Amino acid sequence: MNELTSFKFVKEYVYPSGSVYVLYNQTNDFYIETTSMQDVDTRNKSQEVITTDDPELIKQCLVPKEEKWLIAISTQFGCPQKCRFCLVPTLGFQGNLSRNQMWEQLEYVFSQNPEITHSQKIKVGFARMGEPQYNWQNVLAVMRDMKSYRDGFRFLPCYNTILPKVKVEGKGPLEVIIDEVMPVKELLDGFMHIQISVNSTNEDERKFLFGGADVATLKEIQSAFNGLPNSNRLITLNFICGAGWELDPKKLEGLDPNVFCIKITPLNITERTTANNLSDAIGWNWERMEKFKQSISSCGLRIITDVAAKAELPLCCGNLVQDYKRHNP
Ligand code: SF4
Repeated sequence: MNELTSFKFVKEYVYPSGSVYVLYNQTNDFYIETTSMQDVDTRNKSQEVITTDDPELIKQCLVPKEEKWLIAISTQFGCPQKCRFCLVPTLGFQGNLSRNQMWEQLEYVFSQNPEITHSQKIKVGFARMGEPQYNWQNVLAVMRDMKSYRDGFRFLPCYNTILPKVKVEGKGPLEVIIDEVMPVKELLDGFMHIQISVNSTNEDERKFLFGGADVATLKEIQSAFNGLPNSNRLITLNFICGAGWELDPKKLEGLDPNVFCIKITPLNITERTTANNLSDAIGWNWERMEKFKQSISSCGLRIITDVAAKAELPLCCGNLVQDYKRHNP
């Protein structure tokens, strides 16, 4: 299936490290985003690369897709959550995508890159639009199919969730991870990433940032997953570094270092973050990011930093559908 069937291609936004495709579904009268990017290798010149306005500099640092290919697909038409730091809620919500509609996005990306016949690591974030908890059965079906999809293509699917406390098909978010996601991870020989969006060590602040949603608390995450046999990859707890958001290493101390690691990233500033009075604590400053890392190193968990290049700021989820709709009312 190389042709789009349930979607129509409407626009490609091209950035130095890849493209964002805006696709339209007529049945739901809804636009989604799918991305195909390359990793930017910042070794040795981190500060220069993350702040440059020169696309050529970014292009010189791109990791070949055969080594690592970064794709993000949408799993829902919009999102039912209302996270204050995310633009997707401004687009509305029209339900789940089917497993075929998720594969259609992947096939579309592959059809736009026919020269790539093999890749050691196709990292697929099920995270462009949508919260997987609402659609876990279809998300996991797609991940299972990845095992035998095509010779030479090795997938690294990423289950990205805020763990909203809603039961879907009889299961809450922690049960879904333990009973359903972990077995798929085993099937894929541990080659799967689980990322939990945490963002603050203060539960009241977390609730505020997640737009009032009830999400699994850090303590609940700890007691559900500590000691879990976890082959290959650690569960990543993501912290966006917003100005003033609490990141207290003491509150991370009970988390099992054989199960969890921490990722810190800057906050992407958008119309919505500005409207919600949220600001970033990093400001594309690598040294500041390293200081953040140092400040929580006593927690005993591995800490990863992830800073996107400033030139690619418009890439954040939902921004380009919003841009397309603004220019094509
Ligand atoms: S961050 Fe994820 S869960 Fe929250 S509104 Fe955006 S797409 Fe939905």
